[in-house]
Formats: sequence, structure tokens, C-alpha cells
Amino acid sequence: MVKVTLLARKSNALTPSSLRCLSHLPTINMTAGCVHGCAYCYIRGYSQYPGDDAVAVYRNTAELVERDLKRKRKKPIAVYFCPSSDAFMPVEEVLDQSFRTMKLLLGQGIGVQFVTKGAIPDHFIELFSQHPDLVAGQVGLTTLNDQLNTAIEPRAASAKRRLNDLARLIDIGVTTSLRADPLIHGVTDCDANIESLFAEASSRGVRHVSASYLFLRPAIIGSLKRSIRNPELLRRILAPFKDAQRAPIRGGAGGGTSLPTDLRRSGLERIDTIANRHGLKLRICGCKNDDITTAKCHLTNLTTTARASHHKNDQPDLW
Ligand code: SF4
Repeated sequence: MVKVTLLARKSNALTPSSLRCLSHLPTINMTAGCVHGCAYCYIRGYSQYPGDDAVAVYRNTAELVERDLKRKRKKPIAVYFCPSSDAFMPVEEVLDQSFRTMKLLLGQGIGVQFVTKGAIPDHFIELFSQHPDLVAGQVGLTTLNDQLNTAIEPRAASAKRRLNDLARLIDIGVTTSLRADPLIHGVTDCDANIESLFAEASSRGVRHVSASYLFLRPAIIGSLKRSIRNPELLRRILAPFKDAQRAPIRGGAGGGTSLPTDLRRSGLERIDTIANRHGLKLRICGCKNDDITTAKCHLTNLTTTARASHHKNDQPDLW
């Protein structure tokens, strides 16, 4: 059971990100903490993290965004939800603030970009359908195996629900992609898992997928050890990092431990081959794979490219 508390936000709601790929858009978090409780989540190392079974909801976010926008001479092209939270977590107060904030932004012609592992409620789909060229969404999913999802992302939406939300977003003309992140070597990156995931995504109209491998920090290792109850699964998750290397995140957002370069390169090449087979265009996270690609994430170009084209079977280039 997760304890939900309401909190008045005192600082600005729209904030810059330390990640280079998000640096030109304001970002917003609806909460401190996240009820989805992903065992690998990096927010568990943050000073304002309220604990594994707690979430603090900012109850005045929509009002603060309205105030922030009135003060700005130049409005942002889009706002990114949420670098350290999830706008669609199953908490009424979060969904209420997310809806009001997104409606306000879209009403002023400001784009809404999001990444989620939650279930997107119908009234959001209805809202997005009125502004498809202003909305871009990524749905995070690395496996169709819900037993594994429950162990790693205990309160995120089921695989079926996330796939159906991808289809619903594509259906209303929203620029949409699958985010297979973080992949876990030896657990979710095997051919059979990736084949079935990409086949299901492709059959729902997805044409773009981004992928990245698990990246460890001390707080994430602690979280995995606390959260993963199955000792064999925990061993399999951590084993490939035995010979791992310290790696920076491009753009100066700290660093961590990544899989050895050769393992990551060969894994991502294999995943690229599978993606091609299913008509998917793969992009890897350039920020966390500085040693194997010069590509940028281009994550935040979603909305601007979406404006160029928003037909169901003509999903634009996302990166
Ligand atoms: S949904 Fe995102 S923010 Fe929430 S716990 Fe999972 S990784 Fe962290």
C-alpha cells in the first residue's frame, strides 16, 4: 500500500532539465516519488524521494503553471512530463493535476510531451484527440511477461494495457513511440522477448522504438536489492555488471555504471536487426551510450516533428 500525501509546491512548476536532450524544454514533475515503484528507478537516490511506499502529490501544479506562463514573455514550444515522475500514475489527485495542466497547455497552443508506464485514462485520450499535432508520447515497456513486469515495475500498467494505449494514441494521430528502457541483459534482451514485444508493438501501428540498457547508480543497486524478492532474478540482473565500467551521462548529468561496451554494442545491434524485421526504426539513447554512438536522443523533437504529419499510418521521424 502506497501512502499518498498532498503538498503545496512552493518553487516553480516548470523547471529546466540537467539532461542535454531535454535542455531546451521546460520539464514538470507532478509528484515527488512515484507509485509505480520500478525497482531500477533513479529517483530513489534523490534527496526529496519520500520512500519506497510513499508519494507526495503537488496539489497546486496547474495553478502554478498558469502563473508561470503569464510571467513568461516567450511561451515554450512544449512541456515534458515527467523526468522524475509519471503523469499517469493511478492516483486520483495526480491524474487531476496532470489533466488540468495538460489541458491548460494545449489550450494555449503549447505542446505536451510525455513518457509513461501507466494507464492513460479515456478523458486524456479525448483531450489529446483535440490537439494531436501538439502531443507526443512514449510508452515504456520492455517485456510482455507480466510476471516479470510485476517483479520489476510492480504497480505500472499491464503490458496489454500499455500496448493498447500505444494503439489508441496512434489512432488519434498523436506522435507515438515505444520506449524499451531499461533493457536488462540476460533478462529482457533475449531474442524471444524482443521479437514478441516488437511484433505486438508493430501490429498496433508503432513505427519507432528507443532502447537503452540498465544503468546503475549506488541508489539503484540498493533499490534492486530491496525490491527484487527473487534471489535468482536479482543475481541475473546484477551479474553482467561484474566487469562493468564507470560511465558518464552525456551532457553532464552525472554518471553511473554501464554494461561493458562490447556487450552493449552487440546487444543493441541484435535488437536493431529485430526491429528492422518488424518495420520499426530503432534509436538508442545517445546520452548513456556515448562510447558507441554519436547520435543524440532527440527526445524532445517529438512535438515539432509531429506537426509535420499526424496520420495514423504515416508516423513521422521522432529523432
Ligand atoms: S514510472 Fe518512471 S518515475 Fe515512476 S517509478 Fe517507474 S521509472 Fe520511476
